[in-house]
Amino acid sequence: MIKEVAIGIGAALLVILFQQGVNIMPWFFMVGLVFVLYYLVGSKGGNKSFAMINSSKDKNKVEKINFDRIGGNASAKKELLEALEFIRNPKKVVSMGIRPLKGILLDGPPGTGKTLLAKAAASYTESVFLSASGSEFIEVYAGVGAQRVRQIFNQARETAKKEKKNSAIVFIDEIEILGGKRGTHGSHLEYDQTLNQLLVEMDGINYYDEVKLLVIGATNRSELLDSAIVRPGRFDRIVNVDLPDIDGREQILSLHTVNKPLDEDVDLKTIARETFGFSGAHLESVANEAAILAFRENNKIISQKYFIEAVDKVMMGEKMDRKPDKEEMRRIAIHETGHALISEIVRPGSVSSITTSSRGKALGYMRQTPEKDLHLYTRDYLEGQVDILLAGSIAEEEIMGSRSTGASSDFQQAINITKQIISSGMSSLGVVSLKEVPATMLHDTVTKIIEKEETKVRDTVNRYKDLVKEVAHYLLEQEKISGDKLRQLLGVYKKTIKVSS
Ligand code: ATP
Repeated sequence: MIKEVAIGIGAALLVILFQQGVNIMPWFFMVGLVFVLYYLVGSKGGNKSFAMINSSKDKNKVEKINFDRIGGNASAKKELLEALEFIRNPKKVVSMGIRPLKGILLDGPPGTGKTLLAKAAASYTESVFLSASGSEFIEVYAGVGAQRVRQIFNQARETAKKEKKNSAIVFIDEIEILGGKRGTHGSHLEYDQTLNQLLVEMDGINYYDEVKLLVIGATNRSELLDSAIVRPGRFDRIVNVDLPDIDGREQILSLHTVNKPLDEDVDLKTIARETFGFSGAHLESVANEAAILAFRENNKIISQKYFIEAVDKVMMGEKMDRKPDKEEMRRIAIHETGHALISEIVRPGSVSSITTSSRGKALGYMRQTPEKDLHLYTRDYLEGQVDILLAGSIAEEEIMGSRSTGASSDFQQAINITKQIISSGMSSLGVVSLKEVPATMLHDTVTKIIEKEETKVRDTVNRYKDLVKEVAHYLLEQEKISGDKLRQLLGVYKKTIKVSS
């Protein structure tokens, strides 16, 4: 308001001076200069206001969250709650002689709920919550980042006092941008000054301050952080926020479906089993996409088939309109059936579905259901994965007489798995460092493993050739086959032809 009145008065003054014949050009330049300075110092550097919750009047208000709204992450929640005790129950912590925490680092892949955990920490401790992303502190102008760091800490203290709260949480997402190793950036000075300022602010946090401050940082690249930032006394506690396991996935799905009308056939456990490797953000998207798909078909309730399709969509991308010609479609069907056949033979019950509809970059795809979340892989398991990847192009070759370019990403993945076998000391080379193995030796070992697996897969595909043709034919008619249907056809084939697996 004051700004508008000042601009009005200034403009009126210039008009009066102009009418009285005064040369107003120098004044114009002066005013222009003042505006440029205001923009650089003010909007770029100075008056930046960071997003906050618990602040009733703030225009950047962020949604309030509590721990019940976060699924899975049981150990991360436990560790975080324990760390928050010093804000909730400071006397008890001090009576034990425990040094209060200044910072907590949440480390984990994108979309696993790190921001949610930080917001829940603020609600749980009834603290003021200010959030900013590491990139908001970095500017081309030296000193601006440091000024912003000072500002967010001051804003946190002032807001807490204004709202009569004892504590404030400053949340810095993507902290590796602001707290990356010193001396590694192009514009050293600005990055280093900003990080130094953060260290100064953290060192200045005092347990006896009127407002207790806690800094929560989030990153998925903790290896990039400067060692000064993670040393004891700064980010004292590092909490790993991992991708959810099967139970965590089920919990997250149920949290994101409470507000949705679900059909009786919806089985979230099955969806959780099919979504190995999904983050909380992916699962939220599955629930949302399932509702959108039901809505598109004018259904008032969401049934299981929409969830299954939503998983495909989140995993592979939107369905594409492109329709390959008949010959290409047959090749795609045979390729995908090849993958599925070997998957069923190597790990019975592992195929969830096969489809020839294109999504994202894939022209067709076979989806697997892992029986359980695995964290360690044996050589047998990895060889099985290589077999499944090679099977698509071998099926094409054995049935259509040639390979196609569609298998290049399969081969790349197969080579990566083979290198994993070598680097884990499970190859004929024994325990070696991949970096130190001569290139030709590495190439020969990879080729030997792949060729051995190719022979095995070719033999199996030939024994099941008629089944591959039959399933591919069925696929061309139906566009999609469930794992159960494939298992049924495989069972019948085994009985009539009497092949042993
Ligand atoms: P990034 O590293 O990309 O910043 P993040 O780890 O901070 O991601 P959030 O922003 O907390 O992830 O999560 C994004 C969204 O994903 C949330 O708004 C929520 O809908 C959903 N989500 C993620 N994890 C969980 C979880 N554990 N429980 C419930 N919902 C979750």
